[in-house]
Amino acid sequence: FSRIAVLTSGGDAPGMNAAVRAVVRTAIARGIDCFGVHRGYSGLVDGDIRPMTSRSVKNIIQRGGTILKSDRCLEFKEQAIRWQAYETLTEMGIEALVVIGGDGSLAGARLFAKETGMPVIGLPGTIDNDIPASDDTIGFDTAVNTALDAIDRIRDTADSHGRVFLVEVMGRNSGHIASEVGIAGGADFVVLPETEVRSDTFQELSTERTRFEEKSALIIVAEGENEQRIHQIAGDLKQQGHEPRICILGHTQRGGSPTGHDRVLASGMGAIAVEFLLAGYGCHMVGVRSGAFFACPLDEIHLAHPESAAEQSFDSLWRLLK
Ligand code: ADP
Repeated sequence: FSRIAVLTSGGDAPGMNAAVRAVVRTAIARGIDCFGVHRGYSGLVDGDIRPMTSRSVKNIIQRGGTILKSDRCLEFKEQAIRWQAYETLTEMGIEALVVIGGDGSLAGARLFAKETGMPVIGLPGTIDNDIPASDDTIGFDTAVNTALDAIDRIRDTADSHGRVFLVEVMGRNSGHIASEVGIAGGADFVVLPETEVRSDTFQELSTERTRFEEKSALIIVAEGENEQRIHQIAGDLKQQGHEPRICILGHTQRGGSPTGHDRVLASGMGAIAVEFLLAGYGCHMVGVRSGAFFACPLDEIHLAHPESAAEQSFDSLWRLLK
């Protein structure tokens, strides 16, 4: 290759900048010119593509968000628009693409690679860690730590006032942030998207309260699809005589400086993306499994690896700690 491009798409995640930096610097080290596409697939469609140098990615490894900007581009779901994007790239002499984004962005990358034949490598960039084929995604560790910071503060006030706090964390349909935050934050309960909440779910909470005269409790709720869920749980708890307080952490979890872990992960994935292109991969995602990077076909990113079994280990750890 003599020219490649990189873009960030969908929900932003801390560490995306570190990944962009690694793609650009590895490309340069390999004698390849690298271009930055601004605003995700929107920039691909309207040609918002600029040359990048080692200097243009200087001093960004520690910054949250994405210097390339991100966007949701609904028209990219149309085949004709994807061909338009392909033409924009080929007119500029760009021969391959690196896409950093979540589930949706990787679905777009897969279609684009298959239809046009242009080599594309995807990097899992999402705070939700909801790409089953990869044990980890860029931004997840930072989001867990950001949520934990807030939860530690909430615990202080919950303890002092003897209150029950319901804290909603992000993760879309995945409960990964909630389960890690639940363990690391020492929560009393974790409500995952798949948890069935019944009238007696928090029974234990009431008996413990009487037994230990302990009034404060921390319940982590994964956002899931039902926005009203946390309010419904609060309603149930009120009926059981508690006075729950609700705290929705929301977008504060998305931003901020990436943790060391996410910087290292993103740097590794960005460098490997270029190496994978040079090795001839062209419709793949850089995944991580048991600490090692691997090329996962974009067709298979939804297949969980049996060895990963993250949920199973959460369940057993949780039972021990309760
Ligand atoms: P994320 O990548 O964080 O999951 P989205 O689901 O919003 O975020 O997807 C980001 C962008 O990826 C969309 O705005 C669209 O441009 C593109 N995209 C998502 N799904 C598809 C799809 N099925 N086909 C083509 N492009 C898609």
